[in-house]
Amino acid sequence: MELSEVFPKDGHIQHLYCDKCGGYLDLTFDLFDEKVSGVHIRIDGLPYLSCGKCNLSYLPEDSRFAIIYLHKQATKKNSDVVNVTRNKTNVEYEFTNVPFLYDSDDYKYIPGLKRPFDEGFLTPIYFNREVLLKYDASPTYRLSFASTTYGEMRQGDDFSIPFGVNKNGKVIMWLGDIARLPKNEQYYLRSENIEPDHSIGSEFYDGQIEVKFTEHSKEDALFQKRSVFLEECFKRFGIKIAHLDKEVYDLAISFNIPIVDTEKERRHVADTLNKIYIESFDNNALGQILNSFSIDPKKLGSIKRLQGVMDQIANPDEVSDLILPFYVLYDLRVAYSHLGSKEGSEEKLKYVRERIGFSLEVGLLEIYSVLIDQLGSSYEKFTSFVKENT
Ligand SMILES: [Zn+2]
Repeated sequence: MELSEVFPKDGHIQHLYCDKCGGYLDLTFDLFDEKVSGVHIRIDGLPYLSCGKCNLSYLPEDSRFAIIYLHKQATKKNSDVVNVTRNKTNVEYEFTNVPFLYDSDDYKYIPGLKRPFDEGFLTPIYFNREVLLKYDASPTYRLSFASTTYGEMRQGDDFSIPFGVNKNGKVIMWLGDIARLPKNEQYYLRSENIEPDHSIGSEFYDGQIEVKFTEHSKEDALFQKRSVFLEECFKRFGIKIAHLDKEVYDLAISFNIPIVDTEKERRHVADTLNKIYIESFDNNALGQILNSFSIDPKKLGSIKRLQGVMDQIANPDEVSDLILPFYVLYDLRVAYSHLGSKEGSEEKLKYVRERIGFSLEVGLLEIYSVLIDQLGSSYEKFTSFVKENT
């Protein structure tokens, strides 16, 4: 190749997206081994931005300048061979003295992170997903989700830290943000901190760096509505009425719209939706709220408890319409899991269809689509009830 090809093209900015497929690029460290305008240049560990899907690599600007620099040095020395191993930047940023694992190459080579001020603030720190579950269960912190993989960790009304989940299921936060947390929280985070996988592509990156709005899937939109509802309940009643455990959050992240209608998929979909949208309610917390209205929650299941709470703050007739999709979802699982007799299951399924407005026999895909919409509207309405008169 010619040296002129190594120079960054005028006006071209290297983004984190693949030119061919538009997917996210990962930071990788590979061998550069090319003849550049008469000089054989070999650099071990040169940073690239790579698309695993297209098997394509792009050179970040600083990597281009490294090649140009080495070519210049060689030409000066009248040499036609360069053979070097690149040293990692290994910079320690002074935001906190808790020794987090991170790679300053991420900050320097991932597009969009470098800033002329607060050097190193936007260095990504990677964690096991368990981190989020701890904060979800914590009485002092809350998680709010804009989608299943992008959200904020909040405390009180004015403190929040954004987080994201990358394609490998790792949680990412910025070093500068983490340093604002109390020391004991930082030490806890350090215990779940893992080596960087250099894969920052996520809705979190789009939102934080590119300020790009990601079109949400139906599933993500529903998960967000659930999150908003829980947050408003917390504000009104001072208690978290639902939690995510590891299994449920894993399911939420990996869950996708069903595309086939098979027995297995029916069970999986109904089971997953039940776990995320019904079983994650904290019965005890809902019971406490009912108690505060002098209602005895004993013998009531979680949907009944939720209905009971809503009855106290809104018109019960309206509530009974809005709670319906939750019962339908519950019955759908019973029907699809064949927990009862065959006739019983068919009867249940018929009842499910009727209640969401189908008179004909329809399958999973139709039921799913309508049910997700109805659950979403119910969450929105419930949220508005909770917000009223507060
Ligand atoms: Zn690609």
